[in-house]
Amino acid sequence: MPEGMPRSLRLDIARPLLRWYDRNRRDLPWRRREHDAYAQLVAEVMLQQTQVATVVPFYERFLKRFPTVSALAAASMDEVLPFWAGLGYYSRARNLHAAARKIVEIHGGRVPDTVAALMRLPGVGRYTAGAIASIAYGVRAPVLDGNVGRVLMRLTAMEADPRSPATRAHLWRLAEAILPAKRCGDFNQALMELGATVCGPQTPACLQCPLKTYCLACRKGRAGQIPPPAKRPRALPAAVVVALLRWGERLLFVQRPAKGLWAGLWELPAEPVETGEPLATARRRLRARLPVGVRLAARPAGTVVRHLTHREITFHIYVGTRLRGQDHNEPDPSSPANPSQGQPPFRWLTPDQARSLGISRACEALLRFQGGEGLRLNRRKPLPGAAVTPADRPTAEMNDS
Ligand code: SF4
Repeated sequence: MPEGMPRSLRLDIARPLLRWYDRNRRDLPWRRREHDAYAQLVAEVMLQQTQVATVVPFYERFLKRFPTVSALAAASMDEVLPFWAGLGYYSRARNLHAAARKIVEIHGGRVPDTVAALMRLPGVGRYTAGAIASIAYGVRAPVLDGNVGRVLMRLTAMEADPRSPATRAHLWRLAEAILPAKRCGDFNQALMELGATVCGPQTPACLQCPLKTYCLACRKGRAGQIPPPAKRPRALPAAVVVALLRWGERLLFVQRPAKGLWAGLWELPAEPVETGEPLATARRRLRARLPVGVRLAARPAGTVVRHLTHREITFHIYVGTRLRGQDHNEPDPSSPANPSQGQPPFRWLTPDQARSLGISRACEALLRFQGGEGLRLNRRKPLPGAAVTPADRPTAEMNDS
């Protein structure tokens, strides 16, 4: 038994915690398929770094389209991405897809039932493996996510940095030591549920907690101070110039490379602004990438700011149009942007067509910008977190150079 955990605690907390869980567990879609390891895999991957309320509609759409691991393995990545678009952290979708293919190829289509085998799947770490093994198969495997770590630190009044390797190693041992002999999956879910709904980061509701008589932090009046708040790294500023090019109801989109940020998604053509570089220089580079037969304003019509985990990106938006009389097909076979000539794939798409192919939330914010800035394809308000600033003097000046 790890230091800080009374020997009797294991037996003591399982009963009240499970009783509380049986009465209070939220009705979540993945809990209706608890013994379906594939459904648990999808849910756990989607829940990595994403809140439950955000995940629910994505999970339901995804499971409807890819109801089995074989269905997901048989799909192409281009078919999968639209069902992930808007959920963020797109590498998770790629890993999940790769994991499905590995399960079909190596495990005969059955999700493995040991932590070791699960951890050999792409994108599956110890937490995800423990959750799938314990919930779907009843394996006695611990889990440790932010919620569980916080509950354990408070139960034992552990005054330490929860992100340090030594603390995490201790918490893993603790999470394993307190597992009951039966109902391990429910016990793990109950700890996570308690952390999510009662023992929250800022305001633990100790009076409603089934474990309050066992909790050392509560007894010491330290629940609100344990664990100490994380110091957020400063988001690095970055700037991008974006071409918002209209052709009737369509806009010009381009698919991002298969690797890196927002890999494989569709977006408005964009070019990063180098440190200290004038916008006009980046705009010229952007213009040189665009297909022939379009013209682009000389100055930006406004900006959209998006906050990512480690970056704050300012998008400077240059509006433009496809020139009249241009007769190229879609995609334009004569364009230097034709993919067959090694250029990125451009396509004229309505915003809804682009959404169905998969776009990022940043691109969605840019589409909403154009709704209020002259192109008038829609008039929806900006997304929360997207600061939209029209330029002082939106320019009508066009330049196709
Ligand atoms: S008593 Fe309070 S601090 Fe302790 S586990 Fe319950 S909610 Fe968290």
